[in-house]
Amino acid sequence: MSQRPGFPVKLSQTGAGPLQRKPGPVAVNPAGTLAASAMPRVALAPSGLGLDSGAVRARMVRQLAAQGVKDLRVLDAMGRVERHRFVESALANQAYEDTSLPIGLGQTISKPNVVARMIELLCQGATGKLGRVLEIGTGCGYQAAVLSQVATEVYSIERLRGLHEKARDNLRPLRLHNVHLIFGDGMLAYPKGAPYSGIISAAGGDAIPQAWLDQLGMGGRLVAPTVTQAGHQALVVIQKTPRGFERQVLEAVHFVPLKSGVA
Ligand code: SAH
Repeated sequence: MSQRPGFPVKLSQTGAGPLQRKPGPVAVNPAGTLAASAMPRVALAPSGLGLDSGAVRARMVRQLAAQGVKDLRVLDAMGRVERHRFVESALANQAYEDTSLPIGLGQTISKPNVVARMIELLCQGATGKLGRVLEIGTGCGYQAAVLSQVATEVYSIERLRGLHEKARDNLRPLRLHNVHLIFGDGMLAYPKGAPYSGIISAAGGDAIPQAWLDQLGMGGRLVAPTVTQAGHQALVVIQKTPRGFERQVLEAVHFVPLKSGVA
């Protein structure tokens, strides 16, 4: 089978991918909140075959909004990127459920809710698009594609060659010219793209590497799962301000470990 089941049929016939289409789900009412009534109601079909992926994504976006994601830039981006293209075809029918999924080599793609939450934290306080963003842990490339919708340039670094190549294959048909994939150790960040207006990690370490702080631009924000003093992994947000680094520790999370070196 040369294509993933079902989904791309409609889109490839029109020649316009969803990244070019106006996403259905995000409608704004005068209060600036999502207009739920403007969104189509869709029932999930029992299998991936024959699904209209736009409608299923619209449902996922409504759920994200119901779970508290408010940033319209983020909801819009989540509605545009076809998550099912980034997972094995056998898992495509789970792609829009709020679940993490295996992507090979022992790694996982985060739940849509976690991806949206982290990107919302990254965008907080910024108006319009972010500038250059660094992602540590490309994995299958899904989050890089979402980031490409909210930032002018995305640098995404992966330490496992197999996943770096998988992400390249997954992203190629999307022609996202502002996404730059790098094979390397993200603990060193990526000085060539610095300073960054945002740094986001999809893997959690015991501490925030110094290189990440060094390569964050003034006013920039860093969002990363990190082991806290309490001994568990939590989302940590760091903002670089003229007064120094401001650090917030948020909810507990479970991410794959941040490892050094490449493999
Ligand atoms: N954002 C990804 C999630 C991938 S899971 C996606 O959308 O699919 C986290 C990834 O971080 C794994 O692929 C893992 O190999 C990678 N990783 C862990 N430590 C790293 C490091 N030091 N540098 C780069 N990538 C790293």
